Order: sequence, then structure tokens, then C-alpha cells
Amino acid sequence: MSQIELRNVSLRYFTSKEETEALRGVNLTIDEGEFVAIVGPSGCGKSTLLSLISGMLQPTSGEVLLYGKRLIEPSKRVGYMLQHDYLFEWRDVLSNVLVGAEVRGMNMKSATMRAQSLLDRYGLAGFVKHNPKQLSGGMRQRVALIRTLVVQPDVLLLDEPFSALDFQTRLSLSDEIGTILREQHKTVILVTHDISEAISMADRVVVMSNRPSKVKADHHISYADGRPSPFMTRQRPEYNDYFQTIWGELEEHVRVSE
Ligand code: ADP
Repeated sequence: MSQIELRNVSLRYFTSKEETEALRGVNLTIDEGEFVAIVGPSGCGKSTLLSLISGMLQPTSGEVLLYGKRLIEPSKRVGYMLQHDYLFEWRDVLSNVLVGAEVRGMNMKSATMRAQSLLDRYGLAGFVKHNPKQLSGGMRQRVALIRTLVVQPDVLLLDEPFSALDFQTRLSLSDEIGTILREQHKTVILVTHDISEAISMADRVVVMSNRPSKVKADHHISYADGRPSPFMTRQRPEYNDYFQTIWGELEEHVRVSE
């Protein structure tokens, strides 16, 4: 049984003025521990797909299964990390990373121990009592990731987590976050508009088509001698091959919509 399965999923948004068909007939299965990146033209429905997998949104038709069970409400097994970190400026780093655990009514003693060990492990031990505004953009995103990990989700959804950052920070942070995610052995679904980020971080890249969107291509990413760090993948010959192929798939859509 796959951990996540989307069966013939369609999603239409209705407003008083119009109807938008975001997804039509999406089929996708994801296994435990996979790191999947979703790329596609802007507005094709990538974030919508994440909302469906989190259980926050219900499909218009078709079904979303988590461990073989239909998802009908937000699941505690799924954690969500967004482009903006939404840290509370008046709380220090430690109490920020404990927010999710508090909201879920978890045992705060063990949550605090987990939080402290994650902050330690990922270079934030000296910043526990700092406020978010004293941190760099990259550190803030690491805090946001740790906040998501403290509640121990099985699946992590990342929606453009690096897009608000400058190029330099983005590169080093994708390296750091890639390492953290692999060490934590979670299933990761990363939405990004950046092909390089997708190929360098994920084991699998799913390409979505224009709206109404469905899965256009599904690439397994592998490198000849094991998995290099995200930064190092960019120097591998396979990287260029994947880039050209995926670029071509996305470009067809740009031409069609012109
Ligand atoms: P992406 O993440 O690929 O940029 P989204 O999933 O955000 O795309 O949006 C897909 C389409 O659905 C877009 O055309 C967007 O305008 C529309 N859409 C997204 N959310 C809503 C909503 N809550 N109500 C109406 N339309 C929406």
C-alpha cells in the first residue's frame, strides 16, 4: 500500500463570479520516505495539490488516500511549511518551535526535549532565547522547519519554502534543509517553480501540465555514484540531462499559453 494516493482527483474552485478548474484527473502515488518535487506552470494547481494532500481541501471528484484511508479532514500525520515562515515576533525561538505542539495539545515536556535537540543539531542552540527578528532569513526558515518537525509528522509538505530568499541563501539553505529532511527520514513533497531546486533536492520530480492540470511526467532522479548534496548535484552530468528534459516539458506549456 502506498502512503499517499490520489485517484482520479479533480478540483474546481467556485466563486460568485467564476469557476476555475484547477486539477482534472490527477493520479499520483507516493511511498513512505520518498522525496518528491512538484513543478509546473504558475497557477496550474501545485499548492492546491498540497492542500488536498494535507486534508484541508476536499476534491470535487476522485479521492485522496493516506495509508489507504480516505482523507476527509486535516491529518495530524501531515506537516505543512510555507513560503513565509509565519514566526511570531513576540515569542522567542524555542517557544516559536513549540507552537504546533501546543495547538495539538501534545505532551510539552517531551516536545520541548525534541525541540531542544533539533535546535542543537541544526545549529540554533545559541539562539533559543532570540526573537525571530534577530535571525537571518535562512535561520528563520530553519526554525520554521524545526517547528514542523517537532510535531512528528510522517509527511512534510513544503510550498516554495525558499522563494522569498536571495539566491545565495537559497542555495545554502536548500543544502541544509535537504540534509535535515534526509536525516529525519520523512516523506517530503516540495512544490517549487525552480527546476534546479527540484532536481538537486528530490528523488522524484513530478511535472504538472497547464490548467486543468494533471500529471504530465514523472521522473526518477538518480546519480551514478550515490546521492551528492543538493549543491554538488549541480556539477553532475545527469543534472544537465534532467534539466533539459524538464525544461522542455515546461516550455511546451509556455508556448501553448502564449
Ligand atoms: P500554483 O500553486 O500552481 O501556482 P494554485 O494551486 O495556487 O496554483 O492555483 C491554481 C488555480 O486555482 C489558479 O488559477 C488560482 O487562481 C485558483 N485558485 C487557487 N485558490 C483558489 C481559491 N481559494 N478560490 C478560487 N480560485 C483559487
